This record gives sequence, C-alpha cells and structure tokens, in this order.
Amino acid sequence: MMRLLLPIFWMFVSLWAHQVEFARWDKGETFLTFLERNKLPLSIYYDLDKEDQTLTEEIITGVNYQILRNEDGNVSQALIPINDELQLHLTCNEGSCSVAPIPIESQTRREAFMLTIESSPYYDIEKATGSKALAQIFVGGFKNSLNFRRDLRKGDRLVMIYEQKYRFGKPFSMPRLHAAMIEMRGKRYGIYRHEDERYYDHNGAQIEGFLLALPVRNARISSPFSKRRFHPVLKRYRAHLGVDYAARSGTPIMAAGNGKVVFAGYNRGYGNVIKINHEGNYMTLYAHMSSFKKGIKNGMRVKQGQVIGYVGSTGISTGPHLHFGLYKNNEAINPQSVVQVATSALSGKRRSAFMQIKQRFDAEIDTHLQAQTAPSRLDDVQSIYYIPDEQGSQKGES
Ligand SMILES: [Zn+2]
Repeated sequence: MMRLLLPIFWMFVSLWAHQVEFARWDKGETFLTFLERNKLPLSIYYDLDKEDQTLTEEIITGVNYQILRNEDGNVSQALIPINDELQLHLTCNEGSCSVAPIPIESQTRREAFMLTIESSPYYDIEKATGSKALAQIFVGGFKNSLNFRRDLRKGDRLVMIYEQKYRFGKPFSMPRLHAAMIEMRGKRYGIYRHEDERYYDHNGAQIEGFLLALPVRNARISSPFSKRRFHPVLKRYRAHLGVDYAARSGTPIMAAGNGKVVFAGYNRGYGNVIKINHEGNYMTLYAHMSSFKKGIKNGMRVKQGQVIGYVGSTGISTGPHLHFGLYKNNEAINPQSVVQVATSALSGKRRSAFMQIKQRFDAEIDTHLQAQTAPSRLDDVQSIYYIPDEQGSQKGES
C-alpha cells in the first residue's frame, strides 16, 4: 500500500511549487459546502461510505489545506488534513472525482533538554525552544501539585523528554511528553508517561489533569478510538476519532465534565449532537442522540454527571450508540486515556511495572542533567491545527 501511495503523494508535492493554493477551512464550512463552492459534484460526498462521510465532519475549523487547480481553474486535487496522521485526498480526472483518506507521513524523533531556571519554567522553555506547546505541557503537568512561584529559585534545573513529529525536516504537530523533572530546593519532582498513556508522579499517583466521568452508565465500548488504521479488507485507511458506547435507545447521556454547551443542534454525520467546552482547552462531543434533555441549549453551563440527552441513532449511524469525542486544542484525542478509572493511584503489578519505567526515565534524566543537553529549536513548527493565540499566554506566569 505504501508503495502505491508514495508516488501519488510525491507527485502532488512536486506539483506544489507551481499552482498549489493554501487555504483555511472556514467556520461553518462542511465538505458539501466545500464541494459546492468549488463547483465539484456533490456525488463525491454521497458516494463515500458512512464512515468516510462521518470523517468529513472531523475537518477542523481553521485547518490549513491545499488545493491544486488545472489551467482552467478547476480543482484537480486537494489535501485536507483530518488530524496529524490522516488527510482526505481528493482527485479529479476528466470530470470524474474521488476521495480517499491517505496517511500524512512524518518522522517521530525523541528529544530532550535540560534548562536552568532564569525567570519561570514557562518563559524559559518558550525562550529556549520557541515552543509555547512545550511550555504549556510542562507547566500543565505540575500545576496541581507544585507552586513554582513560591518554591522555585533561580538556578534550579528542569528536564523534559518528549517526542516531536517532523515533516519535510520541519517540526510538525504537537509534541508529546514522555517525562519531565523539576528541581526545587534540591528536591526532584517528576511526571512520567506510563504504558496506559496516562501520566503519573514519582509516587505512582495519577496526574490530575482533566478527568472525565463516563458519559453513559454500564455501557460497553463497541468501537475504540483510532487516529489512523489500515483496513486490511477494504484496503483503505480509516479513522475513528472517538469512542462508541453501545447502549439502548433512550439511555441517559451525562456531561463528562463541568463546562459550557457550545453547540446543541443537528449535524449531518453526527445527527443530534452536543459539544461542551471545558477548562484547559478541552472539548467533548456527544453524537447520534435521540433527543436533548429539555432545557439544554447553547451557552448554558453544565455540571459533570448532569443529563444532557439520550442515546439514539440520528445522523449517519448503524444503530443506537453514543459516539463520544474528546478534543484538546481542537485535536481529537483518545477519551480512554482521560476517562476516570476507579483508582487513580497505581497498585500491585501495575505499580511495579510503572516503577521500572520510572527508573529508566530517571536514569535518562540524570544523563541530561550531566550532559546539560541543549534544547532543539521548534519555532518553525508546521502545525496543521489552528491554535488560538491567546491560549497559554495568560497561563505563562503560573
Ligand atoms: Zn463513533
């Protein structure tokens, strides 16, 4: 498959230089309005299978996409990212067009650095790396347990180990933390990423970031989250940017966290859908509802556990279920890495497995402290996501 896709990809890239247009996916734009605007046949959309039709609902407002036109100005190709691993590839040839999800190729590098505090972790990390995202990740990881302003001294040291994607040699998309350490008054504090993709402190206690409650009770997961997978039978790439919970029609759906309803309405793919904004640039999405709870509307505040609607099968759906999506900075992430588990502290075998991982990270952190590993610059990041500017800047002093 890769052998098939790469030539298409490179053909596109090599044509770039000539007539490629970069555009921004506008608010309110849907795949259908996009086709209409570009005078493309709507059958392109209607010929897609249900899963791919629903996938078009995931195109992020503000995302940068590329269009290639032929001499008479008609669209011949377009590449529209769905996330940092998958994009919709539209091709038109002599009036016949088709769309297929194809991978976004990138290389992942593991990187690390050590810094000595001059002013504050946020400011120093941003200054040294050029990355607001890294600064936010670091500060966010410790904000509930440490008080930097009170306890940090100039000269204390910090280490970050993370992975960063690169595309065409440039940093691309969001970094992902592996481990972070900060010294305060000679004592070291760490956060570590465990195999379950959650973060824990040096005692094996889960870092309390944004903990979600289950949106439906006693429901089984009928389809897990995937950013990109290759379907061996269909020989196509797919993605499922949420978790499906199988539940009877009419089962109450609860807000997974405190927040504000920013959308309660109908969407072609997701049917009756509610979106809730939460603290920390998180958003949750509840799709295919049969109906909303009376009184739930745009702009209202809801509490974690509050009933907002009922399971149904509206929109593009094969049967009653809740499609539950979680987004951070508009990027779909796996809700299962954030949904609350019964115990948030590790015990038994899980704890000893974690302690081994922690030990390896600690040894690595020691190496970077001794080597005084210098940071990579990430200024020229090719984010495919639109990230609001104001985010993070006010958190800078925490
Ligand atoms: Zn789903």
